[in-house]
Amino acid sequence: MNNINDCQHIEILISGYLDGELTQQESQRVALHLTHCEECQATYRGLKDLQQAIGKTACPDMEHEKLDNIVNDLTSRRIEGLGWFSIIAGLVMLIAFSLYSFWFDTEMAWYSKLAVSFLWGGGVGLFVSVLRQRWIIKKTDKYRKVKL
Ligand SMILES: [Zn+2]
Repeated sequence: MNNINDCQHIEILISGYLDGELTQQESQRVALHLTHCEECQATYRGLKDLQQAIGKTACPDMEHEKLDNIVNDLTSRRIEGLGWFSIIAGLVMLIAFSLYSFWFDTEMAWYSKLAVSFLWGGGVGLFVSVLRQRWIIKKTDKYRKVKL
């Protein structure tokens, strides 16, 4: 009975013993107890292993930083994507609206309308294709940076 009580007391002290936070008297008591109690020795070893494991995983802070960078990059990429989406959506609406008003409101001959439409369509098509190429280049560039 006394031994069990002692073990409970020692178990509480073991983590402090490992951290060197005990008084000399207390740590001597723990050390003495550990020499003759296998159960507390096992607890002690388990805690020690755990501390070492934590010490080891605390090392790769660099990995954390890398991860943060990747996450931040993802977020900024998403915001950038949203920005592009808004711009493109706005442009498309504007073009659609001006096309609509151009075709239905202006008093132009249908062949003039057709010619102007082709001109505009060609211009917009070129603009979009250039934009798309830029977008793809930018995307692959970012992927390369993340891989490095
Ligand atoms: Zn014990």
